[in-house]
Amino acid sequence: MQIYKVGQVCVNGHAITGNVEAAASSKFCPRCGEETIVTCPSCRASIRGNRIIRSDFGNISSGMHIPAFCHACGKPFPWTERAVAAAKELVDEVEGIETDEREKAKSSFIALASDTAQTTVAATRVNKLIAKAGPILGKGIRDIVVSIATDAAKKAMGL
Ligand SMILES: [Zn+2]
Ligand SMILES: [Zn+2]
Repeated sequence: MQIYKVGQVCVNGHAITGNVEAAASSKFCPRCGEETIVTCPSCRASIRGNRIIRSDFGNISSGMHIPAFCHACGKPFPWTERAVAAAKELVDEVEGIETDEREKAKSSFIALASDTAQTTVAATRVNKLIAKAGPILGKGIRDIVVSIATDAAKKAMGL
């Protein structure tokens, strides 16, 4: 059987603690100064923190893996939405691309945060855009993608 402790994360996605019962909680994030949350803003489900697997041989505990989406309602967490919004803003700065290509790339970021049939399509689109974005914008977009993308999405992008 596995259970999760309640985790606390700031709205930018910095982990505060994987177990609010055991650690001193922080109202604000020491890294970015933004507020912290312990529940999903959409459905109020507790954020999954440290995972504990119970067996006859004892308990195995592993650290919090900050989720991109709420396990209870499926909505993206604030840090996922913020990262996607920041990536979209950078795409707006890329010059010399067609509107259609720009919009497709912008709508692709969220698919990189989950493993679906669209992930490979999204990875291809974003990679094409990064190639056209030039070194500075390209790196900025790539850094955001790394922070939200699943392992499969990163692999599909060659990251
Ligand atoms: Zn923070
Ligand atoms: Zn939720």
